[in-house]
Amino acid sequence: NTTLRIDQLRASVEGKEILKGLSLEVRGGEIHAVMGPNGTGKSTLASTLMGHPKYEVLGGSVTLNGEDLLEMDVDERGRAGLFLAMQYPSEITGVTNSDFMRSAINAGRGEGNEISLMKFIRLMEANMKTLEMNPEFMHRYLNEGFSGGEKKRNEILQMMMLQPKITILDEIDSGLDIDALRIVAQGVNSLRSADRGFLIITHYQRLLDYITPDFVHIMMQGRIVKSGGPELAQRLEAEGYEWVKEELGIED
Ligand code: ADP
Ligand code: MG
Ligand code: MG
Repeated sequence: NTTLRIDQLRASVEGKEILKGLSLEVRGGEIHAVMGPNGTGKSTLASTLMGHPKYEVLGGSVTLNGEDLLEMDVDERGRAGLFLAMQYPSEITGVTNSDFMRSAINAGRGEGNEISLMKFIRLMEANMKTLEMNPEFMHRYLNEGFSGGEKKRNEILQMMMLQPKITILDEIDSGLDIDALRIVAQGVNSLRSADRGFLIITHYQRLLDYITPDFVHIMMQGRIVKSGGPELAQRLEAEGYEWVKEELGIED
């Protein structure tokens, strides 16, 4: 079964240590939510797991099904089954959305095993329908001129096309209205299965009304400081983060 194991991970960006010994395990069938104040290192965690070159690993380990993820380059991590829906997806001029997704799928399948064009188109159309996306987005350049909400929806479309083992969603809910939020959640829920795990990074409890997590983790100052169930997210929503700091004796 799928297991992403993060153990005592430390990482820096621009020479500043941001992740300070973060441990977390995500298994197939589980949805984990990571919540925490702004600037606490949530996006740094996502970028470090994906192998973004700006983020330097200082210590600790990350394995996916026993294999050392930190030794892999970005493409290898993708092929190993890791997917990141980014907080700020970048625009790629000259590459259409469908071209991009077809090469991503084929990279995962390997040479000689490419998906047929017909099958690909049918799959993309079906998933776009689920996400209530206009078919024209197939032929638009990747993320170019997409609104914030359209970019987020397109990230979820990529996830549905690639069917990753482990999906990391970094603030997929920011900038989404309630209808878009519901649709995005539907996309995630449609992929839930015993061999897929999710790490959902979010600032607000709102998304978790639609995607019920099995575990909620509070991240502060580069570490997971407290873990619980969905009730933890509700308490954060109602009371903020102060009580956590007091309970654990954390100072700003
Ligand atoms: P969060 O996602 O929890 O809001 P981030 O991981 O984005 O937090 O940021 C954590 C800290 O790392 C912040 O102090 C931020 O300024 C810094 N940081 C993150 N990415 C970069 C970067 N590319 N360059 C410089 N500083 C960065
Ligand atoms: Mg932030
Ligand atoms: Mg962030």
